[in-house]
Amino acid sequence: MALPNRKKKLMEDDEVIVMENVSKSYQAGIPALSNVSLKIKKGEFVFVVGDSGSGKSTFIKLLLREIVPTEGNLYVLNYNLNKIKHRKIPKFRRNLGVVFQDFRLLKDRNVYENVAFAQRIIQVPGKQIRKNVPKVLATVGLAGKYKAKPGKLSGGEQQRVAIARALVNRPTVLLADEPTGNLDPNNSMEIMRLLEEINNAGTTVIMVTHNKDIVNAMQKRVITLRKGVIVSDHERGGYDDED
Ligand code: ADP
Ligand code: MG
Repeated sequence: MALPNRKKKLMEDDEVIVMENVSKSYQAGIPALSNVSLKIKKGEFVFVVGDSGSGKSTFIKLLLREIVPTEGNLYVLNYNLNKIKHRKIPKFRRNLGVVFQDFRLLKDRNVYENVAFAQRIIQVPGKQIRKNVPKVLATVGLAGKYKAKPGKLSGGEQQRVAIARALVNRPTVLLADEPTGNLDPNNSMEIMRLLEEINNAGTTVIMVTHNKDIVNAMQKRVITLRKGVIVSDHERGGYDDED
């Protein structure tokens, strides 16, 4: 017997993302993504690689429900993103953490406030925030930097604040769009170690990158886009260079 408020099951329990023949055109007839079909399971670490303009950020924006497919079906965490009601989008997004190349921190707020802010907007009680923020800042290696403003931190530290902010609401999926794009090789590797730890603790991680060294070193699933089409999807891949 079905329980009254139970959501209809749209995907398997171990799946977090299902795309079925998804296309997205910003202008009619010019697809940024074409006929993409894939499944991502809970706990996976997935790289999405490809040249500039190949559709990587479009892929991330679809998952965040910033944009909707022009064609095809898209299911994320048992939400049908083609049909989700506007008032349900904030609740849906709580399940996703997101990190960008340019950090996107509040410049006039300190580290602690940048992270606490993510909890305040979803109305987590103050007592809980005071517990959660130091915990997540310790996880990313920033205990002791609470009071610094972003401008006083290195790029690697700023990205760790952004990761802490993405994690503090305990998302099921972490999306990262070129998170090491503004970092030097050392800071990039530190961020990768952190993302791997986060993944090992159970969070699904989907990371867009151009960085071949990182992709080759990590030996994770690699999905390669070219002109909006998936040209390869390897389980434990390196950067796909063939033309
Ligand atoms: P990537 O992140 O791989 O560089 P994008 O997903 O940003 O690629 O872009 C894919 C294609 O869609 C590109 O040709 C880009 O110019 C186009 N595009 C992206 N965003 C928009 C937009 N808001 N309006 C029109 N075209 C866009
Ligand atoms: Mg992009």
